[in-house]
Amino acid sequence: MLRSSLLYLSRQQRIFDFVKNVGFARKMASRFVAGETIATALAAVEQLNAKGITASLDLLGESVSSEAEARDTGRQYLEILDRIEQKKLQANVSVKLTALGQDISDELGLEVVRQVLDRAKQYNSFARLDMESSAYTDRTLDTFEHKLYPDYPANVGVVLQSSLRRTLDDVERANRLKCRVRICKGAYLEPATVAFPDKADVDRNYVEAMHRLMEHGNYPGIATHDELIINEAKRFAKERGIASDRFEFQMLYGVRRDLQEQIVKEGYRMRVYVPFGSQWYPYLMRRLAERPANIAFMAGNIVKE
Ligand code: FAD
Repeated sequence: MLRSSLLYLSRQQRIFDFVKNVGFARKMASRFVAGETIATALAAVEQLNAKGITASLDLLGESVSSEAEARDTGRQYLEILDRIEQKKLQANVSVKLTALGQDISDELGLEVVRQVLDRAKQYNSFARLDMESSAYTDRTLDTFEHKLYPDYPANVGVVLQSSLRRTLDDVERANRLKCRVRICKGAYLEPATVAFPDKADVDRNYVEAMHRLMEHGNYPGIATHDELIINEAKRFAKERGIASDRFEFQMLYGVRRDLQEQIVKEGYRMRVYVPFGSQWYPYLMRRLAERPANIAFMAGNIVKE
């Protein structure tokens, strides 16, 4: 109930317009968002790299409504890739097709994402297409498979969500392609027609998808903070003789920092997703929806300061 209310609020632009200048809300956001500028985000990446953790930078923002905004987001991604290369950081980028104009037209989204991928290819870098709500799954996967992956097999990857009933079929499709997949549970409120309503089913589906990706896929990103699943990944890798450099764990900036460092110390690869930018509100609300206890936790910390 609280989760669905928070997810509902995450889509209310008017509430964001109201809270964006409220100090308390901005402070809450700073727990999960690495500032509003490229410079603050790169500083966060430097700190992670110093701990042996790689990063994926995400310029916050979802569906844009004008071509100018889409092109501007694309330009900012080119700058991010340039800066990563100049500073020799261990980082790549994560992009949302709707932020690059897909909702305005498929052609625009494709043109802008190809500019980003051309730059990623120039630097031997990588861009992950984040997965949005189920309304976009087919479009994103079709664009990925038919229009991007053939030209950038080493530079683009996709995300699958274990909450969706279709995902094991998509895992098989991805394994046949030998493309890179990030597997996550899924952050959006979805109807029971397309997604499992019970968390236990989402978790079971995650483990099955993860096993198939680890055994037959190409360098999967295991994106979760769920310790049971992380332990299962380690156990499965040992049982099947899958070396620790054939997959990576991924977590979100500001979430389970203790576990992030512990995983690196154990000799596994760890990448942290580093979101930044002024459009932090929907992202923050999705993180609070995942763990409503964060509201009390962060409020307590803010009041203490
Ligand atoms: P959960 O079962 O939700 O949580 C397991 C445990 O992790 C919790 O008990 C808690 O201890 C801890 N935890 C989880 N979330 C939080 C939090 N916010 N704060 C504090 N502790 C927490 N979703 C998409 O739909 N599309 C994407 O493209 C996408 N990309 C992602 C990329 C990365 C690197 C990660 C880590 C997640 C991504 N997600 C994406 C979000 C994902 O789908 C889940 O919503 C999110 O990761 C929470 O699920 P969980 O696997 O951590 O498991």
